[in-house]
Amino acid sequence: MSYPKLVDMMGRLIGSPSVSSVSPTWDQSNAGVVDHLANWCRDAGFEVEQLPVPGRPGKFNLVASAGRGPDGLVLSGHTDTVPYDETRWSTDPFSLRERDNRWYGLGSCDMKGFFAVVLDAIRDIDLAKLRHPLVLIATADEESSMCGAKALVETHRQLGRYAVIGEPTNMKPVRLHKGISMEAIRLTGRSGHSSDPSLGVNALEGMHLAMAEVLAWRHDLQQRYRNPLFAVDVPTINLGHIHGGDNPNRICAECELHFDIRPLPGMDLDEIRGELDLRLGRKLAGSGLRLERVSLFEGIPAMETAADSPIVRATEQLTGYTAGAVAFGTEGPYLNDMGMETVILGPGSIDQAHQPDEYLSLDQIEPSRQVIRQLVSQFCLGDC
Ligand SMILES: [Zn+2]
Repeated sequence: MSYPKLVDMMGRLIGSPSVSSVSPTWDQSNAGVVDHLANWCRDAGFEVEQLPVPGRPGKFNLVASAGRGPDGLVLSGHTDTVPYDETRWSTDPFSLRERDNRWYGLGSCDMKGFFAVVLDAIRDIDLAKLRHPLVLIATADEESSMCGAKALVETHRQLGRYAVIGEPTNMKPVRLHKGISMEAIRLTGRSGHSSDPSLGVNALEGMHLAMAEVLAWRHDLQQRYRNPLFAVDVPTINLGHIHGGDNPNRICAECELHFDIRPLPGMDLDEIRGELDLRLGRKLAGSGLRLERVSLFEGIPAMETAADSPIVRATEQLTGYTAGAVAFGTEGPYLNDMGMETVILGPGSIDQAHQPDEYLSLDQIEPSRQVIRQLVSQFCLGDC
C-alpha cells in the first residue's frame, strides 16, 4: 500500500499539535502524531506497536519494525515539540507553510520533518528483502521529561544494534554530547535578632561556605576531566539562582541556591552528586545548619559513541564530516543504554529549533533522503 507524499505527511505532522511541557497548562497528548506515523508505517509494511507510556495518560511511543534478528538499524526521533509563543510567529505554527525554499511550522526541524523524510526515503525499498531489521522509533516527551525514552529502556528490549537519531544537526554526524543536571542546596538555620549572633544560626553565612565549596569542586572537576572535542572542553557548573533572608537586622534562617552541572562523557550523574554531597557535608559539619541537596530533575546523562563504531564511520563517509560533539542533550544516552551504538544526524539546524517561525530548509531534504537510503541499504540490505 502507498502512503502520502512527503509534503502531505509533513503537513499532517505539523498539523497535529503535540506540545510536551512540565507545565500542565501546555502539556498535550502526542496521540495524533503517533496515529499518523502508525498508519503510514503499516502501509509501508512495518509491524507497528503503539506503546502507552506507563503513568503518562495520552502519551505513546511507537515502535515499527521490519525484518527479524538481533542487529539492524534503528531510526529514531521524538514526536513532541516545545511550547510556542503565538504572538511571535508570523504564521499559524500548526499549519505548514512553504516560503523562501523553507518549510515553516512548529516541529518542522525539531523534529517531525525527520519522520516524513525517513518514510519518503524508504518508499521504494522492499522491506521483505531486508537481511537485518529496520526499526523506526518515535518517542513521547523528549522536550520535557524524556519519559518516552526512559519507558523504552524499561522494556529491556533489544531494538537494534545501530541507531540514528534525526535531531537537527545540519546533516553532520554527532557522537558526543554533555549531560545536564540541575541541583538545589537548601540550608536551614535559626533566625534571631542580629545584635546577638549567638541567638541564631545564619544560613546566608553557611551558603557562603557552600558556594565556595561548589566553586572549589568545579575547579577540581575541570582539572580531572577535559575533552578537546567540545567547544567548552571541561565540565561546567553555573550558579544560577539564590534566595535567602529578609532583613539586614535579622539572622537569616533559610537560604537556597540553584545551579546546573554539565558533565562530560565518562562522568556519571549519580557519582558526581554523591561526591558533591560528601564535600558539602564535610564543609558544613558542625555549623548547626540543616543541609539538603535536591536534584531539580532527574538529569540527562552525557553521551559518547565510540569513534570507530560502524555507524559513526558510515555516517562520516556518507556526509563527508567527522563526527563531532554538540552542546545540547538528546535521547542518545538512553538508546546507548539499550545496547545500541547511536549517532545524532538529521536535517535542519538547531538554531531554528525552539524558535518562533521554526523552519526546515528544503535544501537539506534530498541529501538527508540519500543518506537514509544508503544507511538502510548498508545496514539492513547488506552484510553488515
Ligand atoms: Zn529535538
